[in-house]
Amino acid sequence: MKWPKIFIWCSVWLAFMSACTQAQEKKERLMVVCTTGMLADAVQQITGPDAEVIALMGPGVDPHLYKATQGDLQKLQDADIIVYNGLHLEGKMSEVLEALSAHKTVIAASDGIDPSSLRMLGAKVSDPHIWFDVKLWSKAVAHLAKQLSQADTLHRADYLQRHQMYQRELLALDSLVRTSLSAIPPPQRVLITAHDAFGYFGAAYQMEVRGLQGLSTVSDYGLNDVTTLVDFIVERKINAIFTETSVSDKSIQAVLQGCNSKGHQVKLGGSLYSDAMGATGTPEGTYSGMVKKNVETIVNALL
Ligand SMILES: [Zn+2]
Repeated sequence: MKWPKIFIWCSVWLAFMSACTQAQEKKERLMVVCTTGMLADAVQQITGPDAEVIALMGPGVDPHLYKATQGDLQKLQDADIIVYNGLHLEGKMSEVLEALSAHKTVIAASDGIDPSSLRMLGAKVSDPHIWFDVKLWSKAVAHLAKQLSQADTLHRADYLQRHQMYQRELLALDSLVRTSLSAIPPPQRVLITAHDAFGYFGAAYQMEVRGLQGLSTVSDYGLNDVTTLVDFIVERKINAIFTETSVSDKSIQAVLQGCNSKGHQVKLGGSLYSDAMGATGTPEGTYSGMVKKNVETIVNALL
């Protein structure tokens, strides 16, 4: 009669231990909620399978205009760590992120960048599109690696090791961008897009950059802006301009028509990934892939 009783107690004990282990494993895998896809990709490169990484904004989504949905608010509440770009990229989410930072680890990627490296437009307005200078972005990624490894000490060594490997990949990517663009003769190195997303790109890789809308798509453009840009394109005999996957192409179409009406034939050079990556599962659905595709589109159109 004694054995069955022991057997029952052992079974109960084993079931209890198994439940504890499962609960611990679940807790060990942190949930990191990121605003943009570029951030989620960087975080995933660092955490590998050791964290669940979620991006709130998918392909084609404009972060300047994005408002958190009820579903997003739930994900942000459930998150162990929240990662955002900062520099007012997520302009309409500022209040939500600030409120959450009172009781959660909320990391701004842009905090990893020395303020002297930021493009300033006015005393207090800095350009938030830091991912377009690959070396600058690598500093933001290093900040994420440091913060994540401090928040998740259990996986610290793995995070730091993966980050080192990713840094090497980013440095190689930076060289690739530089080499590819150097094939375009300097007078043709002019990038005209819907909004001013490519300022860091231009500064890092010696391209002259013009956008119809300002730093944020929140500010609208007027007829004068179109006329000024059309005159510039005609005068400089620029042969291609670009749309963006996360911005309506209406503004660029207006520029195109303006040029044509002045007798200057300008073509659409393609659609660039500016403030959002491509579809998940495609090469452009990663940061490296998005940068490579942009460079390929630019070189094919301007060379
Ligand atoms: Zn933008």
